[in-house]
Parts: sequence; structure tokens; C-alpha cells
Amino acid sequence: MPKRNDLEQKALHFVINTGFKGVLQSELWRELDASSREGSRVAIKLEEKGLIRREKELQGGRWTYRLFPKRMPASIESIADCPCLLCKDTSRCDPTTTISPKDCVKLTEWIITLGENDPDALSDDGLGDDDALGDDSLAESMDPR
Ligand code: SF4
Repeated sequence: MPKRNDLEQKALHFVINTGFKGVLQSELWRELDASSREGSRVAIKLEEKGLIRREKELQGGRWTYRLFPKRMPASIESIADCPCLLCKDTSRCDPTTTISPKDCVKLTEWIITLGENDPDALSDDGLGDDDALGDDSLAESMDPR
């Protein structure tokens, strides 16, 4: 049986690779050759660390959990058309000045298109619906510097 930390790492890696589809807990433990008891412990640990989300799901008349990553690694493709990359105001853009990601129409429109193209992109994986357009922390995280 693999050590728990190794198992946590492998489990997290596997869950992240399932993306927005997630994976049933039982499938994951089969894949990692772990017992369901050990697997449940690891899933709870990963959830407590804020790395995954567990959602109850009925499968074949039995309740189980589907595991989803809380954060997805960013890909170059996902930001390739971000307006900040080619913006002439990048060097002056700052959340504390008048040219700010907080009020930027171009950035706001780009974020909206992300949500239209992939509704899950703005779900509770870090860009919750409440955060998508009105929260300063999102604007600050988009600060190009
Ligand atoms: S947030 Fe700033 S850098 Fe990005 S597009 Fe708007 S003004 Fe330009």
C-alpha cells in the first residue's frame, strides 16, 4: 500500500487531470490501488486542505462522492486573448490609480466572454459568481504587474 502523502499527491494529481468532469471516489481508488477506507481518509484530507471539493452523487442506488479540483492549473491558451497582454496602458495600470483593472471595460468584457464560453470557468473554483465582476480581489489578481 502506498504511503498516505504519496497517495495524497497521486490522488490530487489525478483529480486535477479530470478537470471539470471530476471523478467518482471509487474510480479514483481503483486507479490508485488503494482501499476505500484509506481513499476516503485521503479525500477528506484533501478537502480539508481546500484542494478538492466532494459532491454527493447517487451511483447504482448507492451514495458516493464525486471529487473535483478546487483550482485548475492555468494554461497559456486560457489567457492568450486577455486584453492586458497587448494593452498600451499596462505599465500605468494599477488598482490604486485611475487606470485600474477594477474599472477596466476591456477586462470586464473579456471575463464575461470567459463565462459565456465556459460557464464552469466562473463557478466556485476560485472565481465564484459573486466574485466574477464585482470583487476587488479578482481585479487585483488580474493586475498585469
Ligand atoms: S486591466 Fe489594465 S492592462 Fe488590462 S486591459 Fe485594462 S487597462 Fe489594460
